[in-house]
Amino acid sequence: ISQLIGQEYLYFYDALSPIVDANTIDYDTAFFASRYEKGGADYLNCPMNEKQYYDFIRELNNAEKVPMASFEKPVYFEGCMPIEVLAERGPKTLAFGPLKPVGLTNPHTGKTAFAVVQLRKENKESSAYNLVGFQTKLTYPEQKRIVRMIPGLEKAEFFRFGAIHRNTFINSPGLLSNELEVKSRPGIYFAGQIIGVEGYLESASMGLLASLSAVAKILGKDYIPPPRDTALGALINYLTTSNV
Ligand SMILES: Cc1cc2nc3c(=O)[nH]c(=O)nc-3n(C[C@H](O)[C@H](O)[C@H](O)COP(=O)(O)OP(=O)(O)OC[C@H]3O[C@@H](n4cnc5c(N)ncnc54)[C@H](O)[C@@H]3O)c2cc1C
Repeated sequence: ISQLIGQEYLYFYDALSPIVDANTIDYDTAFFASRYEKGGADYLNCPMNEKQYYDFIRELNNAEKVPMASFEKPVYFEGCMPIEVLAERGPKTLAFGPLKPVGLTNPHTGKTAFAVVQLRKENKESSAYNLVGFQTKLTYPEQKRIVRMIPGLEKAEFFRFGAIHRNTFINSPGLLSNELEVKSRPGIYFAGQIIGVEGYLESASMGLLASLSAVAKILGKDYIPPPRDTALGALINYLTTSNV
C-alpha cells in the first residue's frame, strides 16, 4: 500500500479502559460525586490514602506489560497515555493527573483523599463502570491484580479488560476522490477503517459506496456519491477533503 500511494501510512493508538461489574464494587468505600460538585454525581470515586497510592504505584511499575510488536513504536497521544507509562514518569504523576483528588470530598470521611480513581457509568442501567483514564497495556492477570488494589475494587469482576491497539490509516484527503478511488491510480479503491473512519457501520458503508462506484464505472453508468448533508455523504466529505 505504501508503494501504491507513494507515502508512508499513518497510524494512531486507540485505547480502552477496563470495565467492571457494578455489583462487585464496595460502595461503603467508593462514593458518588462529581469534581467540584459540577454536573451531578455521575462519577463513582475510589479514594486512596498516601500509603495505598504509593503501594499502587510501586506495583503498577512492577506489573507485567504486553510487549510492543516489532513494527510498533510507542507513540501515544498525550491525552491517551497508558496509565503505566504515566506512572513511569514519576511517582506523583498520576496523583496530579488522572488520579487527582481535587474537588472531591469523601462523604464517608468529610476529607479529600490523597488520590482518587474515578469510575464513570458505562450504561444507562448503571450495571457497569469504566475506570477513567486507565487505558493500559498490562497483561489481563496483572490488570486484575492492580485494579483490585484500588480501595472499593478489591472484589471487582471485569466485563472488559483495558487494551491499546494500533490503527493504521492512509492520508485520504490527498489520495482519494469522493468515489474513494485512488486519484493517481484510477480503478483502485480504498474503503473501511484504513481510510480514516472507525466503526462497523462506517467501515462497511464505505465499502458499499466504493463498490457501487466501481460497478457503475465497469458498467459505464453514472454514479453520484451521496450528498454532503447525508450521514454517509458527510463522512465521504470528511475523508476526501480537508473542508470538514
Ligand atoms: C477492541 C475493539 C473494539 C471495537 N468495538 C467496536 C464497537 O463496539 N462498535 C463498532 O462499531 N466498532 C468497533 N470497533 C471498530 C471496528 O472493529 C472497526 O472499525 C471495523 O472492524 C473496521 O472494519 P474494516 O473492514 O475496515 O477493517 P477490519 O475489520 O480490520 O478488516 C481488515 C481485514 O483485513 C485483513 N488484512 C490485513 N492485512 C491484510 C493483508 N495484507 N492481506 C489480506 N488481508 C489483510 C485483516 O486480517 C482483517 O481481517 C472496535 C475495534 C476494536 C479493535
